[in-house]
This record gives sequence, C-alpha cells and structure tokens, in this order.
Amino acid sequence: HKEITELKSLIRDVPDFPKPGIVFKDITPLLHRPWALQKVIDFIGNRYIGAGVEIVAGIESRGFILASALAYKIGAGLAIIRKPGKLPYRTISATYTLEYGEDSIEIHEDAIQEGTKVVLIDDVLATGGTMSAAIDLVERLGGNIISVDFLLELTFLNGRKKIEERGYPVFSLIKF
Ligand code: IMP
Repeated sequence: HKEITELKSLIRDVPDFPKPGIVFKDITPLLHRPWALQKVIDFIGNRYIGAGVEIVAGIESRGFILASALAYKIGAGLAIIRKPGKLPYRTISATYTLEYGEDSIEIHEDAIQEGTKVVLIDDVLATGGTMSAAIDLVERLGGNIISVDFLLELTFLNGRKKIEERGYPVFSLIKF
C-alpha cells in the first residue's frame, strides 16, 4: 500500500536512545506531518465501523495520542492505563518484566465494566510485555477485548505471538 509506505517513511530511527545500543523508533515526524495522524486513525478506525466498540484503552504515554483520536473517531469512551501513582481514584495494577527489573501499570477499577467491548492500543509493539500487562488489567475488569492495535510492530521481537497466544487478534499498521 502506497500510503502505508509513505507513513512508514515518517518513522525516524534514533540510535542509542534511551540507552546505548538501542535504536528507538521515533513516531514524532509522523505526528508532525499534516494528515498523517488522520490517515493513521482512519486506517485503524475504519475497521470498527458497526463493531460496537465501547471503550478504547490506551497505554501511557504515546498510546494516549492514538487512543484519544481513535475513541473520538469511532465514538467510543477512553480508558487510560498509566504508570504507577498517576491515577487519582482506586486502581488495580499489573506488573511485567523488563530487560532489567520490572515495571507496572494501573487502571481505574471502574474504567471498564464486565462485558464491555474494548480495543487496546499502543504506539509500538516490541516484546509485547507492556501490552500483555494491559491485557491482564482489562481481563480482570471483565472487558471483552475485540482487538489489540499498534501503529508500529517490531516483528523480530515476536511480541505478536505473546498476544495472539492469549486469543486476541493483533493489528499493526506499520511493520519493521
Ligand atoms: P514492549 O513491552 O517490549 O512490547 O515495549 C512496548 C512499549 O515500549 C510501548 O509502550 C512503547 O511505547 C515502548 N517502546 C518500545 N520500543 C520502542 C521504540 O522503538 N519506539 C517507541 N516506543 C517504544
């Protein structure tokens, strides 16, 4: 697809960020470009016409950029999944392992009701650890996950497998 190729060309490689040896995929050139964000959200959101999605859940912080726009586009509510200590009300949390150590994410306990149709979204799928923890949160609240979406997938890290094994479809617009 020509438009996907054009969007892909707007992703910038930043070597040695956030640590030496890591090549960070920077989505900001895409965000800066007129129409590119709109194209991205249209490509992702048009798949949900008539699907009755009730909540788009986004992961802090670049996930919020996409989740908010997607929720607006499809007329869904927005649930925010945040780093520890950021959410003011009662939360549940899930812990996941990183290369060194662990991290956790939280969601308000009333963000999603039992049986609610949910789409999860984040900017980048790498190892899938972050999204797996987000899935834990949504499952514990009884959400019905329709799809797990990403702007960008780093296919060589096999994060897709981790999510598909749990029985959820994975969609990514751009693959590296
Ligand atoms: P994972 O948990 O290993 O799949 O990493 C995904 C999380 O780390 C997402 O929340 C991304 O925002 C972030 N991330 C990992 N690698 C990159 C990257 O190259 N660019 C931007 N974000 C990244």
